[in-house]
Amino acid sequence: MTIYNFSAGPATMPDPVIAQIKQDLPSYKNSGMSVMEISHRSKLFDDIIDSAQQDLRDLLEIPDNYQVLFFQGGGTLQFTAAPLNLATKYHKIGLLDSGHWADRAGAEASRVNVDVDVLASTKDEKYVKLPQMPQIKDDDYDYIHVCTNNTIEGTAFSKLPDTGKTELVGDMSSNFMGQKYDVKDFGAIMAGAQKNLGIAGLTIVIVRNDLIGKAQNLPSMIDYQLFAKKRSMFNTPPVFAIYAAGLVLKWLKEQGGVAEMEQRNRKKSNLLYDFLDQSKMFTAPVVKSDRSLVNIPFVTGNPDLDKKLIAEAADNGLLNIKGHRSVGGMRASLYNAMPYEGAVALVDFLNKFEKENGGN
Ligand code: PMP
Repeated sequence: MTIYNFSAGPATMPDPVIAQIKQDLPSYKNSGMSVMEISHRSKLFDDIIDSAQQDLRDLLEIPDNYQVLFFQGGGTLQFTAAPLNLATKYHKIGLLDSGHWADRAGAEASRVNVDVDVLASTKDEKYVKLPQMPQIKDDDYDYIHVCTNNTIEGTAFSKLPDTGKTELVGDMSSNFMGQKYDVKDFGAIMAGAQKNLGIAGLTIVIVRNDLIGKAQNLPSMIDYQLFAKKRSMFNTPPVFAIYAAGLVLKWLKEQGGVAEMEQRNRKKSNLLYDFLDQSKMFTAPVVKSDRSLVNIPFVTGNPDLDKKLIAEAADNGLLNIKGHRSVGGMRASLYNAMPYEGAVALVDFLNKFEKENGGN
């Protein structure tokens, strides 16, 4: 039976990448050591980190005046790191409250004594649509935090909010390299690797040079300036996670890059949305204009039926379609590594389930 993993993260990886890891594992480049055993100060690892950084730059067309940094601590540590590094003038940030992860970013910023203004929120509407950016003054906020893709609620900004002269900082964890954005529109971007870029343990930060180096006495492990100076090797970096991300980046290049990924993600998600929208049993709650290309929540409205569906899907090789506990129902994540055939298999299964369980 073919297995498709619809997990929201850690998530499915491209088959050729897993095959390459398997091949490399006992002896990386005939060194007699696995990647897990090599020194981060070795030439072998230098090549890995340099080419991962270069491939990221190529794929996202990152301008030279931006740093590409590799951190640990997940997206969550960046909710602390970004305000401490970047909110140095007004000690205040604006937040578009588009869901759980935006809310978490605000909560962490508050913990380090940065003021957080919620500029707009769709919480009362259960986050089924995106908040609209209001007019702001140019000199109120160090930056506006936006979560480009809301992993749990299934919304995404396809058009970025207009923040005027105020910097935009994007949490791109769940649609990083799966949807095209212009890096120049952001002062900084953060993204955990474990959805579209490999395995947990690595977090990417892309930040414009003129924004860093303004904070004093930061803890070293979140200091953007220090990590830039030390090529992300202030201490032992997550060697294996960077190696895995490097392989995913090579695969992405071979596949045609981010624009191609976006197109494929659109095709996969349209297939599923089109099915859900005509179904009598299932509903996709997110308003059409704000729908994510990669995280698709849907419900039957009957928790017992949801449960039955999730169990039967797993029996059919369609894994991890249980929705997040805060939303309930189901959620299918269709990240870059999910083949079109996976989306087809899911829709076929849902169609059959609907027919067998009293739908049309
Ligand atoms: N931001 C978004 C959009 C996420 O989806 C997640 C995790 N699912 C996080 C941040 C937190 O990431 P981590 O678990 O790596 O801290």
